[in-house]
Amino acid sequence: MLSRRSFLKKGFTGLWSTVPLLSHFHMKKVQNRKSTMVLRWQPYTLELKHQFTIAVSSRKTTPIVLTEIEYDGVVGYGEASLPPYLGETQESVGAFLSKVNLSQYTSPFELEHILSTIDKLAPGNTAAKASIDIALHDLVGKLLNRPLYQVWGFSNAPLPPTSFTIGIDTPRVVREKTEEAHAYPLLKVKLGRESDKEMIETIRSVTGKPITADVNQGWNDKYYALDMIHWLHDRGVILIEQPLPKDRIDDLAWLYERSPIPIIGDEGIQRLTDVPNAVGVYHGINIKLMKCTGLREAQRMLFVARALGLKVMIGCMTETSCAISAAAHLTPLADWADLDGALLISNDAFDGVKIHNGTIIFSENPGIGVIKKI
Ligand code: MG
Repeated sequence: MLSRRSFLKKGFTGLWSTVPLLSHFHMKKVQNRKSTMVLRWQPYTLELKHQFTIAVSSRKTTPIVLTEIEYDGVVGYGEASLPPYLGETQESVGAFLSKVNLSQYTSPFELEHILSTIDKLAPGNTAAKASIDIALHDLVGKLLNRPLYQVWGFSNAPLPPTSFTIGIDTPRVVREKTEEAHAYPLLKVKLGRESDKEMIETIRSVTGKPITADVNQGWNDKYYALDMIHWLHDRGVILIEQPLPKDRIDDLAWLYERSPIPIIGDEGIQRLTDVPNAVGVYHGINIKLMKCTGLREAQRMLFVARALGLKVMIGCMTETSCAISAAAHLTPLADWADLDGALLISNDAFDGVKIHNGTIIFSENPGIGVIKKI
């Protein structure tokens, strides 16, 4: 029998001809060998290069859990990133993953069935669910021998630039970080404290490049927010994320009517069922794998947002190149990418997608395209 590689070299290069044939090929192997999926996981702690401060918290490490799903000798990788303010922990992820029994499913190609069943095991646990979702998508891409964006029928060009985040800090550190980010065409600034204008003025003393601003629900008054948005717009800020607390829907809708720049919902838009609620409240949404249970739902959010006329940003937590690479496969259909999470850590556990001067460069390896380094 031909190996998978030589099978592909025989001329089956078109996506729609390849996928069904290879799916069939592997489904046959399942029936013949009775392979089962095995889930493994390990806790890991990400070390941040700089103390990271946003409106609601400050930290130097991020706990994560790395997952692996092995099937027929092929391993798919996943990750749950667990910033403390979101409520999940390494213990809660371990407890959730202990409830998952993948051996009851015929093959990883049953993504729909597997992931919808796992979603119903318990409410919440979105990062834990994402860690399985990412590993399964990686596995399916590897079994099909295609990068995930190709399995989805996306093109890898053009991709939106990814922004580089400058956390809240002293003017000296902000100036240093802005200089370090000189190669990035787009900066992202965390706002929502007393120092907002100082942050922007410090960055503007170094560079005139466009800035996106994330308030993380840090402002409270809609009139103050509108004044600040005009002030920021005059200084080259091109969009603003979550300027008010997520439950202040009427005030956000008031701002939406008046803002000169797009307002993007992040904390206010978590999952697929939230997306229609963004209409008339936000101009766009920030989709993150860790809050929406992973790639399967994120892709749906992307399509629903598009159908509703909303802009889309693909964002991240502090994550290794595993979850970042997974999210990058969604960016061909996004307006903005905010995928610098792996650039902010000193102990990345994976090689994967590269962010070179703000440009996303896909690995052509199959699946999400990562190599584990630890
Ligand atoms: Mg945000």
